[in-house]
Amino acid sequence: MRDKFLSFSLPLIGQEEIDEVIEALRSGWLTSGPRTRQFEENFRNYCNAPAALALNSCTAGLHIALRSLNIGPGDEVITTPLTFAASVNVIEHVGAKPVLVDVEPDTLNISPRGVERAITNATKAVLAVHYAGHPVELDQLQEICSQNHLHLIEDAAHAVGAEFRGKKIGAGSNLTAFSFYATKNLTTGEGGMLTGSAELLDRARILSLHGMNREAWSRYAAGGKWAYDIVEPGYKYNMTDIQSALGLQQLRRFAQMQERRQEIVRQYNSAFEVFPGFLTPVTRPHVTNALHLYVLRLRPQEWSVDRNRFIEEMTARNIGTSVHFIPIHMHSFYRNKYGYSPDAFPVAQQAFEHMVSLPLSPSMSDKDAGDVIEAVLDVRACFAKRRMAG
Ligand SMILES: *Cc1c(COP(=O)(O)O)cnc(C)c1O
Repeated sequence: MRDKFLSFSLPLIGQEEIDEVIEALRSGWLTSGPRTRQFEENFRNYCNAPAALALNSCTAGLHIALRSLNIGPGDEVITTPLTFAASVNVIEHVGAKPVLVDVEPDTLNISPRGVERAITNATKAVLAVHYAGHPVELDQLQEICSQNHLHLIEDAAHAVGAEFRGKKIGAGSNLTAFSFYATKNLTTGEGGMLTGSAELLDRARILSLHGMNREAWSRYAAGGKWAYDIVEPGYKYNMTDIQSALGLQQLRRFAQMQERRQEIVRQYNSAFEVFPGFLTPVTRPHVTNALHLYVLRLRPQEWSVDRNRFIEEMTARNIGTSVHFIPIHMHSFYRNKYGYSPDAFPVAQQAFEHMVSLPLSPSMSDKDAGDVIEAVLDVRACFAKRRMAG
């Protein structure tokens, strides 16, 4: 057994990242400046996005996306129960109503059929989450949204590098929010990026920095460099040049980091998929999976212990794990406000009860990955039901 605890997710920070940050600190420019402009430009290029706006979080990006589209009280936004609370909290923040739709059993992404059924006269947008890095069925959702005059907002917190039918997530005109939180595939410690059409991002950019517009001022005043106008009460959501320095280097090594993720996922899949007790993650043939999470699911009828005990057994073997996610409708705020029962979204609920996210990070060595496999198989040997031979 492993003698040192393996963290669920350790970032890969090398000397290059450290050097970039030191340079930023020495440059005399700490807040949003030249490095942030460059990071926006490089990220935009990477995704082939029409435009990009660097922010201090993905949550900020989702919030500003809703505000930029004038979504507010009286409006409904359709989204998934199987996501981090941030995706749904922002809908509450703007005063709109989140309408949850259950997920598909294989990818655990929002069901396009379910979305169609949930549309009412009050629906203004669909907020789709590319769960674990596997893109949602974008063409079906896009079609449904176009037919019903709805906006499609993408929560791409897990999806840097993901592709749908050969196009990077973020390459379209939809407002798409990425996360560079410490555990995500590409990190700036905290941070995010909003991509989408240049027109939508112009408004988002103003909202992201106090509602300040220098152009509006120059329209009716011979303003110098000091002049600005507040066109609406905006937020303080900008990214610093210190964060962008980290991001610039993370983006340079991103392809290599993704390759390492892929190797580990291949090792996990081939070790686990031969056993009936495990359901390994799927990747549909027309997508590139960003492989943010490795969500292993236990087939309950094959086990004499539940998922919680499985996690305890992994911890006892010095392997960190996590669960993604406690479904939104099971959290007290949402449960109480909307009166959801736990089985209101049975696919999400069942998946939640039997899932465990295994360590997955490009910083993991072959030995780390081997230790995870060994621990999982050892727990299986102890607690999977024995089948009668022949
Ligand atoms: C991490 C995460 C977010 C929030 O990202 P931040 O950058 O921390 O704001 C939003 N949605 C999902 C699905 C996430 O996993």
